[in-house]
Amino acid sequence: MSGPALHALADLIIGARCAGCGRPQFGLCRHCRAALLAMRPLEVHRHLADFPRTVVAGEYGGVLQRVILMAKERGGLGQLPILGFLVARSVAGLLLRADASAAPVVLVPVPSARSAVVERGLDLTGTLARTAALRLRRTGLDVRVTAGLRLVRTPRDQAGLGRHERLLNLQGAFAWQGRPPRIAVVVDDVVTTGATVSAVSGALREAGVGLIGAAGIAHTVKRGGVR
Ligand SMILES: [Zn+2]
Repeated sequence: MSGPALHALADLIIGARCAGCGRPQFGLCRHCRAALLAMRPLEVHRHLADFPRTVVAGEYGGVLQRVILMAKERGGLGQLPILGFLVARSVAGLLLRADASAAPVVLVPVPSARSAVVERGLDLTGTLARTAALRLRRTGLDVRVTAGLRLVRTPRDQAGLGRHERLLNLQGAFAWQGRPPRIAVVVDDVVTTGATVSAVSGALREAGVGLIGAAGIAHTVKRGGVR
């Protein structure tokens, strides 16, 4: 059976659709995959204390947004390899800028609240970090993932909170446990106000972790300025 016929059949039986454009398809169609791979990592700026150098794959929108939503909300496990690859590229961008490609690098996923993990059945940032580390190790880099950063207090849901409220909500929420790594990169999924990345970076720096930045998949852009 030819490719298109197979995909049409998959759609008929299980409603298989490309996460990026909705065409009948197993997994991502080649157009959407190509669109994601064509993106070049970009640096994100937020005017917040402790906000580190941050690199993401692109702006939150279009195919990228739909694929992220599929992974976050509907447990789109099929999207994780490509999202992990995009995070790996963001990490690589940071390492190049910091000239830190020779040293062992530790990826620190932003811890998810237990409720979110249970709800999704997936620890998204942890999975992205592990997928990215695997990709980077294949290029010969010494990259590991550690769960040394803990959520010591569960913040309330951030949705609907402004930047300042988010910062307050996250104060003291994260703490490092164990020996601090010399070179670390924070891994997050989508950077919005930057409050989470700032809070995590503050906790890491306080613990003596040598932080070179944060890597993510996307960042949100608000019309009339960056959020
Ligand atoms: Zn598609």
